[in-house]
Amino acid sequence: MLRRGKEPELTGRIVVPGNPQYNSARREFNTFFNKFPLVIVFAQKTRDVVNAIRWARFNNIPIRMRSGRHSYEGLSVVTGGIVIDVSDMHEVDVNRKRGIATVQTGIRGGALNEALWNERLVVPVGVCRTTGIGGVTLGGGHSILSRQYGLTQDHLLDAEIVMADGRVLHANADQHADLFWALRGGGGGNFGVCTTFRFRAHRIDTVAYAEITWDLRDMEQVIRVWQEFTAPGADPRLGPLLSISNGLQGPPRNPVFFQGVFLGSTAEMRKLLRPLLRAGSPRKVTIEEITWIESVRRVADTQATLPYPFKGVAPYVKHLPNAGISTIRRFIEKTPTSSAGVFLHGLNGAVAKVPSRATAYFWRRAWSDVTLQATLSTQEEAKRGIRWVENFRRAMLPFTRGVYVNTPDLSIKNWKQAYYGGNFDRLTRVKARYDPKNIFNFPQSIPPARG
Ligand SMILES: Cc1cc2nc3c(=O)[nH]c(=O)nc-3n(C[C@H](O)[C@H](O)[C@H](O)COP(=O)(O)OP(=O)(O)OC[C@H]3O[C@@H](n4cnc5c(N)ncnc54)[C@H](O)[C@@H]3O)c2cc1C
Repeated sequence: MLRRGKEPELTGRIVVPGNPQYNSARREFNTFFNKFPLVIVFAQKTRDVVNAIRWARFNNIPIRMRSGRHSYEGLSVVTGGIVIDVSDMHEVDVNRKRGIATVQTGIRGGALNEALWNERLVVPVGVCRTTGIGGVTLGGGHSILSRQYGLTQDHLLDAEIVMADGRVLHANADQHADLFWALRGGGGGNFGVCTTFRFRAHRIDTVAYAEITWDLRDMEQVIRVWQEFTAPGADPRLGPLLSISNGLQGPPRNPVFFQGVFLGSTAEMRKLLRPLLRAGSPRKVTIEEITWIESVRRVADTQATLPYPFKGVAPYVKHLPNAGISTIRRFIEKTPTSSAGVFLHGLNGAVAKVPSRATAYFWRRAWSDVTLQATLSTQEEAKRGIRWVENFRRAMLPFTRGVYVNTPDLSIKNWKQAYYGGNFDRLTRVKARYDPKNIFNFPQSIPPARG
C-alpha cells in the first residue's frame, strides 16, 4: 500500500497543528504526557477509519488509535503520527427483549451506563465515568459488577474492526474466532481499530449499596477482612472496592474508604459486611437500597474526572499476607506527592469462572488488582512520584502476580509475562495472521510471531 497510486483522502473531522482545537484534541487524560501528532482524525463513521489507515500507510506515518484517552502511559497519541479517534462515534442501540446493546466504541463508561439505564439494562464497565469503552473492553474491564457478572469483555458478542490492510471485519465466536479471542484481553491498539461492539446486557433495577470510612490507623485490620470478600467461595453478589490514601487531597478524602454494590437486600448486605463493620472503628457507615444508576454515580463521584498528571500501575493479588499489608503501610506512610494511594478492586467470582486460556485475559484467578498511584503535579513531584510507584511495585512483587494490561507501565521489563502470562505466544501468532507487518505498533505492543 506504500506510495502506489493516488494518495488516499482523509475524511472525518480532521484536526492539524494550527487549528484552534489542536491543543485540546491532542491532550490525554494523563496530562503528564505532552505529544504533538501530525494529524488527528475524529472518525464519524467506519469508512473514515479505513481512509485514515490507508492514508497513514501511503505516507508511512505511525498510527495510534484512541477512544477515551485514558491510557496510563499516553499510548493513544504519538508525536509526528496520526491519531485515529473514534470518540465522535458514540451511538447506542438497544434490543431490550434480547438483552443486547450495540455500541459504537467512542462512548464513555458513564454515558453507556446512563443510556442503558433508560432500558433498565447494564453492561458492566469500569468505575470511572470518563474511561472509553474502546480501551476498557479490549484490556478486560474491571467494574463494580465484575464479581457478579464478569469482565466487560466477557459480555462482548461481536466486534467490528478495521484492519491494517483497510478491511472491515467482524470478530465473534463464528467469524475470525482467533481474533475474537485476542481482542478479549490482548489490550487496545494491537490488532486494528474497533468501531462497534455488540454486548450482552443484564437486567438491573435497585441494588444494596454501602460506604464505610476509617482512619488510616485501621488500615491493616480493614484490608485483612476486606480481602476475604474476594476469596474463592465468597459471596459473588458483592462487588467490593477499597481505597487507601494519604488523605491529603482529592476524593476520597477518607484515608480508608470502602464502597460496595450488592445484588441482594440491604439486610443481607449488612449481615455480610458484619466482619468489616467490626474491623477497627468505622467513622461513617451507609448501607441503603438505591437504584443501580445512583450507585454507579456514587462510585464514579469518588474517581478522578478531570485530566491530571499521574503515574500508576495495577498488579494483581491473591491473598495478601501480613508482610504484603505491611509493605502497603510502609509506602502509604511516606507518600511522595500531594496525592497518592492504593486502590483495591475486588475480582474473582464470575471473572474466575472463565478459564485463563479461553480469552487473552490471563489473570482470571486474581482476587483483586491493586492500583498504586501518585499525582505528579510539579517536576519535583514527578521524579518522586514515579520513583515511589516504581519502588512500591517492586516491593509488592513477592505478593503479586501479573499486571493489568489496562494499566501499562513502560518501566516493566518482563511485560510480556506480566500482562499476558501463558497467553503471550498465542497472541503473537494471532498478530502475525492479522497484522504481519506490525503496522499497529507502540511501546510494549504485541509483536507478530516470526516464521
Ligand atoms: C481515571 C481512570 C480510571 C480508570 N478506571 C478503570 C476501571 O474502573 N476499570 C478498568 O478496567 N480500567 C480502568 N482504568 C484503566 C482503563 O481501562 C484504561 O486506561 C483503558 O485503556 C482506557 O481506555 P480509553 O479508551 O479511555 O483510552 P485510550 O487512551 O483512548 O486507549 C487506551 C488503549 O486502547 C487503544 N484503543 C482505544 N480505542 C481503541 C479502539 N477503538 N480500537 C482499538 N484500540 C483502541 C489505544 O490505542 C490505547 O492503546 C482507568 C483509567 C483511568 C485513567
